[in-house]
Amino acid sequence: MSAAQGAPTNAELFLRAEAAIPGGVNSPVRAFRSVGGTPRFLVSARGPYVTDAEGREYVDLVAGWGPAILGHADPRVVEAVTDAAARGLSFGSSTPAETELAELVEARIAPVDKLRLVSTGTEATMSAIRLARGFTGRDLLVKFSGHYHGHSDGLLAEAGSGLATFALPGSAGVPAGIAALTLVVPYNDLDALRAVFAEHGDRIAAVITEAAAANMGVVRPEPGFNRALVELAHAHGALVISDEVLTGFRVSAAGWWGLEAATDDAYTPDLMTFGKVIGGGMPVAALGGRAEIMDQLAPNGPVYQAGTLSGNPVAVAAGIATLRAADAAVYERLDAVAATISTAVSDALSAEGVAHRVQHAGNLFSFVFGDPGEVRDYATVLRQESWRYSPLFHAMLDAGVSLPPSVFEAWFVTAAHDDSAIARVLDALPGAARAAAS
Ligand code: PLP
Repeated sequence: MSAAQGAPTNAELFLRAEAAIPGGVNSPVRAFRSVGGTPRFLVSARGPYVTDAEGREYVDLVAGWGPAILGHADPRVVEAVTDAAARGLSFGSSTPAETELAELVEARIAPVDKLRLVSTGTEATMSAIRLARGFTGRDLLVKFSGHYHGHSDGLLAEAGSGLATFALPGSAGVPAGIAALTLVVPYNDLDALRAVFAEHGDRIAAVITEAAAANMGVVRPEPGFNRALVELAHAHGALVISDEVLTGFRVSAAGWWGLEAATDDAYTPDLMTFGKVIGGGMPVAALGGRAEIMDQLAPNGPVYQAGTLSGNPVAVAAGIATLRAADAAVYERLDAVAATISTAVSDALSAEGVAHRVQHAGNLFSFVFGDPGEVRDYATVLRQESWRYSPLFHAMLDAGVSLPPSVFEAWFVTAAHDDSAIARVLDALPGAARAAAS
């Protein structure tokens, strides 16, 4: 496929973007810094495919970083959005649809009695933390190393040296005093968590955790970890915020919580956060949880939280249409596509002698290269042969398959990945695995 006559190339668009926008992007990972090369400038997307400004089509395994479980531009979602837009873009007032979306979530996820809509996952976790602090009257927050909860100041914190010590800023511009309110512990390490609670327990407002970690590549919680974490936090009067911005409504109709709810490891977080799928590709996110806690939010309670665009009617329409369309068949398809692709990637890597591990959490998956040992935390993930990813990524891209541009991201499938899209991925794999081997 060649570029449309006279249309600018991706390289030209990137040059122009770099002059107008910091790094040429509005979110850093899009700049391809960890894989090198020129980002693709996308102009349209449909089903399992995205098309760039040069007219090249790619099988998409990014899915808008998660929301597009139905595939891009699903006609039911587009129609709902079009209808809503024709009735007005933003009211800044209550709408019946907001309540409908809240009720849909509450019907699926038992720990959510009440839900407050916001626009981004960052806002959802930031507000949940304020709420947890307001409810408990405590200041400290515990997070796990390698977990991502958006870019609010207190969450851009890195582990300090030694256990049970306060965190250091994880970004320029984060005051040390704010980072020092966060304690960072290794994931899947209950002993480390116990040590932190033993030392600071009566000052800890909440533990925030990805329900299953998928922002350092995919790292599942060990069996019983989420349940033990809730028990430990509650024993010390602290809350648990389970962040399902990425997993919510993607790994099952009731997210990761739903997968564990059916097992002996069932757990009940106090607060949960959602994003991505809940907006079906539009800016909707949410925090929800026990009524007693949620009612501490303004105007019922003293914890302030607000938003001009919160519950935006066009965005909410996309969320409702997506959740309603995502029936059991959609989740079966997501699981099947994920299994087919992850197995095929693994087979192709093995055929070229590339040591690797396949990481799964429901239909989310990623690959760890080399053999750094059992992958249960961020330290292990960092020990992998990460340089193998860039050649694999570029070989796939050249063959018309778009992967997440970093080894530390999950791969996302959609229910619209049909046999022909999957065949294109499988065709590209032998060459990509060879590139990773060299
Ligand atoms: N929490 C998790 C688990 C996420 O994966 C993300 C984004 O990837 C966020 C929070 C932040 O969401 P947003 O990018 O919408 O601010």
